[in-house]
Amino acid sequence: MPLQPLLPAAALAANMADLHPPLRPQEALVEANRCLYCFDAPCIMACPTGIDVPAFIKKIASGNPIGAAKTILTANILGASCARVCPTSVLCEGACVLDDRDEQPIQIGRLQRYATDYIEQRGLSVLSAPAKKTGKKVAVIGAGPAGLGCAAELARLGHGVTVFEKQPQAGGLNTYGIAYYKLKPEISLAEVALVQSLGVKIRCGVEVGRDLAVARLEQEFAAIFVGIGLGDAQRLRIPGEDLPEVRDALAFIEQLRTEPLDRVPVGRAVAVVGCGNTAIDAATQALRLGADSATIVYRRGEEDMSAYEFEYELAKADGVEFLFHTAPVEVLATDGHVCGLRLSRTVVNAAGKAEQVPNSEFNQAFDLVLMAVGQEKQIALLKQLFPALALDARGAIQRDPLTGQTTMPHVFTGGDCANGGREVVNAVGEGKKAAHGLHAFLTQATARPPIQPSRLGAKTGATGSGLLQPIRAHELEAQVKIPGASPGAFDKTAANSSDHNAIRA
Ligand SMILES: Cc1cc2nc3c(=O)[nH]c(=O)nc-3n(C[C@H](O)[C@H](O)[C@H](O)COP(=O)(O)OP(=O)(O)OC[C@H]3O[C@@H](n4cnc5c(N)ncnc54)[C@H](O)[C@@H]3O)c2cc1C
Ligand code: SF4
Repeated sequence: MPLQPLLPAAALAANMADLHPPLRPQEALVEANRCLYCFDAPCIMACPTGIDVPAFIKKIASGNPIGAAKTILTANILGASCARVCPTSVLCEGACVLDDRDEQPIQIGRLQRYATDYIEQRGLSVLSAPAKKTGKKVAVIGAGPAGLGCAAELARLGHGVTVFEKQPQAGGLNTYGIAYYKLKPEISLAEVALVQSLGVKIRCGVEVGRDLAVARLEQEFAAIFVGIGLGDAQRLRIPGEDLPEVRDALAFIEQLRTEPLDRVPVGRAVAVVGCGNTAIDAATQALRLGADSATIVYRRGEEDMSAYEFEYELAKADGVEFLFHTAPVEVLATDGHVCGLRLSRTVVNAAGKAEQVPNSEFNQAFDLVLMAVGQEKQIALLKQLFPALALDARGAIQRDPLTGQTTMPHVFTGGDCANGGREVVNAVGEGKKAAHGLHAFLTQATARPPIQPSRLGAKTGATGSGLLQPIRAHELEAQVKIPGASPGAFDKTAANSSDHNAIRA
C-alpha cells in the first residue's frame, strides 16, 4: 500500500513544537543573573564563532536584549539558528564552570535565543555594512551556514558579494535538513534576509557547474568561496533498495520541511538504518508524524553510535527502538511495496569491522525504510568545478585552517565540504574565518576582526567574538589533560563532531 499522512495538522503542530520553548523575560533575567562573568570565560573558547558569552549575558541581565543580540550577531550571523541547533552541552554549556560545581550550567543557548528573538520579533536591525566599499567582488558558491557566514562577514568588511545557490531557497541544511522541532524553516529564512540586509546578493536556483561555469565566475569576481556542503546520501547496495518505500532520510526530512506537515506520508512501522544524528532525527520525526513505531537498525553497539548522548536520550524518551549489532541484508516486498527487512546479527571482529554472524538472519515487518548511513563527499563535483583543487584522503577540500585558502590561491572554503561534516556553528565560524582570509588576499591588509572588549583572562588573549582560532571544548581538554578525567567522553565527542551522520565502517 502506498504510504499516507497519518495525523491532522493540529496534532502535528503540537508534536513538532519547539523542543526547548523560549524563555520568558523574567526567566531570562533570572538565568542571566546566575552567570559568574568568569575572567577566563571558557564558554567563549568552546564556541567555534567565539561569541563573547558573558558580555551578552550581562546585557540581558541589565535589561539590554538589543545590545545582547548585537554582541551575538557580530560574532555569529546565524546566532538565532545556532541558539536552537547547537549541541550546547558539548560546546559552551559543556565548558561552563558551573558544571564543575555540580550545578546546572548557564542555559547559554536559550539566553541567546531570547536576545535574537527579541530583535527579530520587533523587526530591529543591529548590524550594518560600511557605506564605503572596497570595489572588490567575491562569488560564494552555496548559501548554507558556511556561505552565509562568509558572505555576511565579507559584506561587513566592505566587499561586494554574490551568493549562488542551487536550491530554490537559501539557508542550506538550516532550511532543508535540521529537525523541525529544533529549527523551523522560517527562522533560517529570516537569517537569510538578515544577510541580504547587509547588501549581499543571493541568486537561488543557480547550480554552479550546470547553470553557470566557474570560468565565468573567475572573469567577474576577484575570488571565490566554496561552501557546497556534502552530497547525496550513501547507499547500502542491498536487494530491494530501489523500492518506493525505501527513502533517503535526508529527502524525508527535506519533505517535511518544505511541505505542509499533514501532507507528508509516513509508515506505521518505520526502520531507520544508521545510528548518527541524522538517523535519530529521522526516527523521532517519523514518530512525531504519527508512526506507531520507529526502529533504528545499527550494525555496531550502543557504545559505538556516533549520535550525541542527548540525541540518544531524546530518541529513547520519544519511544524509538534500537536494534544494535544488526544489519539489513535485503528489503522485503509484497506487490511491489516494502513489507519488511531481512536482518542479520553482526559482531565486531578483531580488525574492528562489523561482520555478519552466519545463520543469524531473521525478518522484521516494516512499511517504510529510511537510509541514514552518511552523506557522500562531493568529490566528482569538486573535480569538475576546480580540476586543480587538492582534496585530502577523505575527499574534503584541503585548506589553510586559519584562512580557509585552498591550493588555488583565489579559492577559499569552509563548512562541511572542507571539514568533512560537523555542526552549523563550525560552518559559520569557518565561513567567517575565510572572509578574513579573503579580505587579506584582496586588500593585502590583515583584517582586524570586530574585537569586543572584556575577557582579558581568555587564554588566547582579549579576543572576544573576534576569536579567529576558536577552540572546541574537547580540543581544549586534550591539551589540558585533567588528572583523572575520562578520555573516553571526549573521544566520543570528537568522533561525533567530525562525522555528523555516518555510521562507522
Ligand atoms: C539531518 C541533519 C541534521 C543536522 N542537525 C544538526 C543540528 O541539530 N545541529 C547542528 O549544529 N548541525 C546539524 N547538522 C549539521 C549541519 O547542518 C551542517 O554542518 C551545516 O549545515 C553545514 O553547512 P554548510 O554551509 O557547510 O553546508 P550545507 O548546509 O549543506 O549548505 C551547502 C549549500 O550549498 C549548495 N550547493 C551545493 N552545490 C552547489 C552548486 N554546485 N551550486 C550552487 N549551490 C550549491 C547546497 O544546495 C546547500 O544549500 C545536521 C545535518 C544533517 C544532515
Ligand atoms: S563559563 Fe561562561 S556562562 Fe558559565 S558562568 Fe562563566 S562566563 Fe557565565
